[in-house]
Amino acid sequence: MEKKKYKRSRQRDRILELLSQTDIHPTVDWIYDRLKKEFPKLSLGTVYRNLAILIEQGLILRIHSGSTFDRFEVNRGSHYHLICEKCGKIRDFTMPVNMELEREASRMTDFSIQGHRVDFYGICPECQGRK
Ligand SMILES: [Zn+2]
Ligand SMILES: [Zn+2]
Repeated sequence: MEKKKYKRSRQRDRILELLSQTDIHPTVDWIYDRLKKEFPKLSLGTVYRNLAILIEQGLILRIHSGSTFDRFEVNRGSHYHLICEKCGKIRDFTMPVNMELEREASRMTDFSIQGHRVDFYGICPECQGRK
């Protein structure tokens, strides 16, 4: 498979920069709101397009969080997520990635396993009213 080449874009550079400066796993709207101030003519479609390119380049990841909106993060390698079912917040989870799961999957399928993702769902401390 050949990798497409894209012209560098200042907007795309800024999207990547924004994502690398936050750990809130933002939505497209969050990114758009911030970039709009710098690029008044920016459209939401352009943000989507640039996100798709960054994903294709392996620089960022899309997190599918069920019924809520897609969220994005810089590709920092394999890690798990904690997702609050009340407020939708997504947190990186430092629990070590379970490589045994991939070995087990490999034994059970003829797929060549390249990785896995795990999301844990629950209620965050703030929504539990502990804070
Ligand atoms: Zn919460
Ligand atoms: Zn993450």
